Amino acid sequence: MKILVVEDEAGVAQFIEQGLRESGYAVDVARDGIEGRDYALAIRYDAIVLDIMLPRMNGLEVLNEIRDQRVKTPVLLLTARDGIDDRVRGLDTGADDYLVKPFAFSELLARLRALLRRPPLQADTVLRAANLEMDLAKREVHRADQPIELSPREFSLLELLLRHPNQVLSRTQIIERVWNFDFYSDTNVVDVYIGYLRRKIDEPFDPPLIQTVRGVGYKLVR
Ligand code: CA
Repeated sequence: MKILVVEDEAGVAQFIEQGLRESGYAVDVARDGIEGRDYALAIRYDAIVLDIMLPRMNGLEVLNEIRDQRVKTPVLLLTARDGIDDRVRGLDTGADDYLVKPFAFSELLARLRALLRRPPLQADTVLRAANLEMDLAKREVHRADQPIELSPREFSLLELLLRHPNQVLSRTQIIERVWNFDFYSDTNVVDVYIGYLRRKIDEPFDPPLIQTVRGVGYKLVR
């Protein structure tokens, strides 16, 4: 289970991140609204914890944009004690629940678990390129009707490429979206994983889908 936390207050973000990791979740933290929106659009999370008061773009605008882009991930809003209007607008905009600051971590965890038990709305769950299919709901990949086993990281990387067909992604963009980027400054890991993916999804098939753009990064052609 992978959770995105969008929170600019470092202390709060760290408190949530650490608690979720200790509870067995993978966590990405975005520090402002634009970063949060970009993560939410690029990576398939199981849930998003979204603060409303954020620099650059507030949480309600982030929510609005990701719902417009048909991201159905459950969203738990964090609101200020006096932010009643925000709560109402948030639920109207497509938030699934909210939590008033300050809160106990056990309450956050209970709310998240409740959201994760809800079945996701099944829209746009299959991504395609040529004869490759990725079923996001079943977490399955097929090419030419043959099943392909991918590790979770390979799956996330392929999902990112499939969501941005014919678009060059730099190694840094890929690192930021597929890994918990604070732990990796060495972008060689991208080349290594692209190699793994190619061996599984490209080499046994035609045509090759993943292209190297020299000096820049990679793109998936569709
Ligand atoms: Ca804030």
